Amino acid sequence: MNTKNQDKNYIMHTYGRYDVALKEGKGCYAYDEDGKKYLDVSSGIGVNSLGYCDEGWVKAVTEQASSIQHMSNYFYSPQTSKLAETLCSLTPFTKVCFGNSGAEANECAIKLARKYSFDKYGKGRSEIISLNNSFHGRTVTTLSATGQDVFHNYFFPFTEGFSYAEANDIESVKAKITDKTCAVLIECVQGEGGVNILNKDFVKEVRNLCDEKDILLIVDEVQTGIGRTGKLFCYENFNIVPDIITVAKGLGGGLPIGACLCTQKLENVMQPSTHGTTFGGNPVVCAGANYVLSVVANEDFLNEVNKKGDYLKEKLLKINGVKSVRNLGLMVGIELEKGDAHQIAVKCVENGLLIITAKSLLRMLPPLNISYKEIDEAVEILEKTIREE
Ligand SMILES: *Cc1c(COP(=O)(O)O)cnc(C)c1O
Repeated sequence: MNTKNQDKNYIMHTYGRYDVALKEGKGCYAYDEDGKKYLDVSSGIGVNSLGYCDEGWVKAVTEQASSIQHMSNYFYSPQTSKLAETLCSLTPFTKVCFGNSGAEANECAIKLARKYSFDKYGKGRSEIISLNNSFHGRTVTTLSATGQDVFHNYFFPFTEGFSYAEANDIESVKAKITDKTCAVLIECVQGEGGVNILNKDFVKEVRNLCDEKDILLIVDEVQTGIGRTGKLFCYENFNIVPDIITVAKGLGGGLPIGACLCTQKLENVMQPSTHGTTFGGNPVVCAGANYVLSVVANEDFLNEVNKKGDYLKEKLLKINGVKSVRNLGLMVGIELEKGDAHQIAVKCVENGLLIITAKSLLRMLPPLNISYKEIDEAVEILEKTIREE
């Protein structure tokens, strides 16, 4: 049986897949089972930060896999310790907790915020405010944290203690705060919600509001982190420091990892047996992440991400049929004048461009090391596809 039929017969139908089975990749290009070539500006939803099978990354991962592939979290692990030290040395955060995905990183952040509040104020101060149109994951609790009604279905009862405020409306956040509020959870750029960039003033005001009331500010950097927006972390664009950030997608360069980072004030909240996961901090995955950071956490590299983002935006705006473009670095949303974004994305894939959508927008999250020439090629394929519509 071929790949597509095996998938249809044996995998639960939780995804609408494009009609392509990818077999291998190198840099920004992937190849399907028939050898057809695709330029990928989605990076597996912002995961392959350095593209497919980057040489240094492959070396780091395979060397670690052939040295020691896993040990339980009851033992120390050099790659894991090193990754934690690197993350803390590059940021104002002082402690890390590793998991395996974005949703898990957010679960950790939610537990951390609730325990901080419990330890200090006792039971009942456990509510978390997130924003309408946000996305925080697919577990029962992170679905609750996600401020979109479409996600609050079927799986009742959901975790209690979440409410939703309007992005860029500080009065709406104020109105949701009660004496039970322990944290506010935001994405500085809402990814799945349609590449919505929050206003600087709003983010600053949320930070101030949280400071006044000892409410923790959690920034979900799962999609925006690791250089995606031209800074190592997106909150740096907003001149604030969160109490907690969560990281995942781009960190491992293609292997599953999640991380929750906190400032010194929170560093002793979690204690033995308050949290854990079998695979979290796996040495092979951490070797990949260490390599990704060795490339991305570099001022010149990050400046290039910004320049490439501007270059891409400028070219996209010249396409007939593109209404507007919003981006921060290489996190890019494209609003079309007409037509269904998903249909256009399907056509782009047929034409050899792997692109994704976010709500009614086309979305690009290219590898951070994409070249200007590859950007030109991506824009050409998109232009041709829109023209053919
Ligand atoms: C993708 C995403 C998540 C969920 O990450 P998973 O690894 O799929 O669990 C959470 N938050 C944001 C902002 C995301 O983009």
